[in-house]
Amino acid sequence: MDKKIVIIGAGAAGIGMGITLTELGVRDFVILDKDEVGNSFKNWPQETRFITPSFTSNGFGMSDLNAISVDTSPAFTLGKERLSGKDYAKYLDLAAKEYQLPVFTNRKVQKIVKKKNGYLLETIQEEIFTEYLIFAMGEYSFPNKSWIAGGKEHGIHYGEVDSWRQFSGDQQTIIGGNESGIDAALNLAELGKKVTLYTNTTGLTAKKADPSIRLSPFTRQKFFDFKTNQAVKGEIQIYQDISIKEISRKAKKYNLITTDGHTLQVENQPILCTGFTNGAQILAPDLFLYQADEAQLNDFDESIISPNVFLIGPSVCNQGVVFCYIYKFRQRFAMIAEEIAKRSNDLSINQQRLSYYKDESFYLDDCQNCEVNCEC
Ligand SMILES: Cc1cc2nc3c(=O)[nH]c(=O)nc-3n(C[C@H](O)[C@H](O)[C@H](O)COP(=O)(O)OP(=O)(O)OC[C@H]3O[C@@H](n4cnc5c(N)ncnc54)[C@H](O)[C@@H]3O)c2cc1C
Repeated sequence: MDKKIVIIGAGAAGIGMGITLTELGVRDFVILDKDEVGNSFKNWPQETRFITPSFTSNGFGMSDLNAISVDTSPAFTLGKERLSGKDYAKYLDLAAKEYQLPVFTNRKVQKIVKKKNGYLLETIQEEIFTEYLIFAMGEYSFPNKSWIAGGKEHGIHYGEVDSWRQFSGDQQTIIGGNESGIDAALNLAELGKKVTLYTNTTGLTAKKADPSIRLSPFTRQKFFDFKTNQAVKGEIQIYQDISIKEISRKAKKYNLITTDGHTLQVENQPILCTGFTNGAQILAPDLFLYQADEAQLNDFDESIISPNVFLIGPSVCNQGVVFCYIYKFRQRFAMIAEEIAKRSNDLSINQQRLSYYKDESFYLDDCQNCEVNCEC
């Protein structure tokens, strides 16, 4: 199969990009997913809820924060505010059907070969040649377990948890103290567990206003409500400035070895809230240049070493701006679509629709004014 544009991944970024291309008049593309639409969201722990609120604010120039396109709103479609992963996957699936997106499910991209005028993608079913390649593989399928020695063998990652009810035992240990670490701690403590959390960094005390660095208001509020709620049986003890470098197992116990040489012994399998890896880096490490795990991108979120290869979604970091939330990264889709059309003789963009995207804050081509400062 030959396609002008291939998007790898049918999550929030891939479906949002597909709708944007369709709305702007570009139809020569496909979206490939190794599983189904919204696969990552389907695999969230049952108890996890969106930290950004959904609200039907479209129509007043303020689209629902969790919408992946200008004219959709998960709050309106589902009639809910704090969505579960399964809710959001349903919204993505409905949006893909509404816009009749060409999504091919169960198409895992296994290999990408750089050719003279494009890229050859290998899936089990077929080979696909494309001129423009858009990585939307996200991070959730790629839990970061291996930066702690023994983490892969002895730890269970947040991304591998089906429900916090699956943990037996009164005491649980968590490594990592940002959004997922505090969320895991709260869920376990609400089930009556005594939770000990070790971390060398936490958004709980971060001073920056940017919610990509500071803990979100939702999790923060839940944490402080929990701390002052006398009725809850569980406990959360946080040890900051502790860095675990290794996990080993001896006589049915787990040893956590700190960077300053101490050993902490725990009864239950430690829960790793150590973040996720950019899927593009796993599948095609040679297509992007990385500095400290950050893909080096030009102004169009295109690889600086592979022409016509773009990155969208939470791994995008450009000019110091971290695009890890949906309301942030959705603003790059139209800019990329416009750039692809400019480079191709046979593609044109619906300028009226593009203006609408700009009016509705779904178009960001300059990151310089994106600093999230709060003077109050
Ligand atoms: C616990 C948690 C809570 C969050 N809460 C919020 C929130 O409240 N608000 C917010 O804005 N963001 C939130 N995020 C972040 C948000 O979920 C991500 O930014 C979003 O999922 C990224 O979308 P994506 O499309 O890039 O990736 P994904 O949704 O992960 O989609 C990637 C897709 O790529 C597919 N794929 C992977 N490898 C291949 C392959 N080789 N071939 C084909 N397909 C492949 C996967 O199956 C998947 O469907 C949260 C994240 C987590 C983990």
